[in-house]
Amino acid sequence: MRLPAGAHINIVGAGLAGALLAVLLARRGLAVALYERRADPRQTQPERGRSINLALAARGMRALERAAVLESVRPLLIPMRGRMVHDRSGAAALQPYGQREHEVIYSVGRADLNRVLIEAAARHANVSVRFNQQCLRADLAAGHLSFREGVSGGEYQLPLAPTIATDGAGSAIRTSLAAAELVSVREEWLDHDYKELTIPAASGGALERHALHIWPRGGFMLIALPNTDGSFTATLFLARAGPRSFAALATPQAVQEFFRSEFADALPLVPDLAAQFAAHPQGQLGTVYTMPWHVGGEVLLLGDAAHAIVPFHGQGMNAAFEDCAELDALLASTAEWEELFTRFEESRRPNTAAIAQMALENYLEMRDAVLDAGFVRRKALAMALERRFPERFIPRYSMVMFHPEIPYAEAQRRGALQEQLLQELDQAGGGDAAADSPLAERLIRERLAPLAGAVAPGVR
Ligand SMILES: Cc1cc2nc3c(=O)[nH]c(=O)nc-3n(C[C@H](O)[C@H](O)[C@H](O)COP(=O)(O)OP(=O)(O)OC[C@H]3O[C@@H](n4cnc5c(N)ncnc54)[C@H](O)[C@@H]3O)c2cc1C
Repeated sequence: MRLPAGAHINIVGAGLAGALLAVLLARRGLAVALYERRADPRQTQPERGRSINLALAARGMRALERAAVLESVRPLLIPMRGRMVHDRSGAAALQPYGQREHEVIYSVGRADLNRVLIEAAARHANVSVRFNQQCLRADLAAGHLSFREGVSGGEYQLPLAPTIATDGAGSAIRTSLAAAELVSVREEWLDHDYKELTIPAASGGALERHALHIWPRGGFMLIALPNTDGSFTATLFLARAGPRSFAALATPQAVQEFFRSEFADALPLVPDLAAQFAAHPQGQLGTVYTMPWHVGGEVLLLGDAAHAIVPFHGQGMNAAFEDCAELDALLASTAEWEELFTRFEESRRPNTAAIAQMALENYLEMRDAVLDAGFVRRKALAMALERRFPERFIPRYSMVMFHPEIPYAEAQRRGALQEQLLQELDQAGGGDAAADSPLAERLIRERLAPLAGAVAPGVR
């Protein structure tokens, strides 16, 4: 049983998830009305203040492929083979993300990716896209959505059901459902904020292009991802208040001095550091927990609107794209909206909860652990175990980034078992050679069931 072709659906928010979802639903024959607060990105410059570039990994790519848009996206992608870790002395060392040729992640510009997805959606005759339409609220009792037209400022209403809200981490629809006590929402903000800085193409040449650069400094870090024009976008993650914090960087001199003492090799890469620092917004980071994600068959929250996460695993967009793919897969066997929304939430909630937790853990890994000798040793041992037992052991990072066939929740569950095992083998000594020990063989066979279909060729 399926929803009838031509059935109408509203999508509010033509960001990354909304635009991709519109393509997928249009391909199923639904009539999609897509509403977006911003101006048409095909005709205007992107607004600043949200992350400029993002890491796209296998889960996101699989969803893009499902919608037949991956080939249009490929020219935007820059492969990143690992983390280039810059220590205080200015020395840099690459820690590869994986150990197979294809185990890379991709830097992609948000604005370009969004534009390509909107173009793909707009090519479908059964998709209408309306820009400059700000959704103000969803009113379940009255059965309508309220909008403000950006140009005239006039307000109007539309029939609500069914609506999918992809209006992002600050979702107006989620806020209105919470105000009506139809969903409960918990937002947990980090006490660390972020600020983006541009490393222009002229100085970007000093950095290895096919890597994600990290300057880990314990309680804070700087990262940089490459752009197609040769520039890099750097992001400083730092406490909001305290001795080493954004609050302490209130003057150009303080900014300059902070970079000189903490990121001396990065300082010359940003010639107008103080000006950029003053001009660019300081963004907040947090996790959004919403329960439930849908109200009957009337409205469903999806992507960041339902489950925004911190960016340290580079998976928020990937998870939102996976949401779109899952909803599309369920559509093939669902006859009505409420059943679809219910099945979607049942299948996605454990997985998005898992990636929310793993993303929080990864902040500690990125800003602290990558410089720790024990961490680097266990990482090497994990790679050696993967080479020896590819059907049972895949490092957690690789499961999340390169193995979309392993759900996030399963990656988290196996990752915990593996971490324990790594600690035990590490304590028994022997470095990488521990992977060849009888102890490793026994522990792995006892504790880790074989992974169905997870072994890619060429690992040995
Ligand atoms: C600093 C930072 C770095 C990140 N890096 C990564 C990364 O490397 N990899 C990764 O996978 N993820 C990353 N993310 C997460 C990623 O940005 C989000 O998970 C992703 O954008 C979610 O997509 P979405 O479509 O749900 O929301 P969004 O992309 O935010 O889209 C929401 C859309 O809705 C529109 N909208 C908002 N309100 C309204 C309204 N009231 N009415 C109408 N339209 C509205 C917005 O204009 C926007 O177009 C990062 C996030 C941050 C903050």
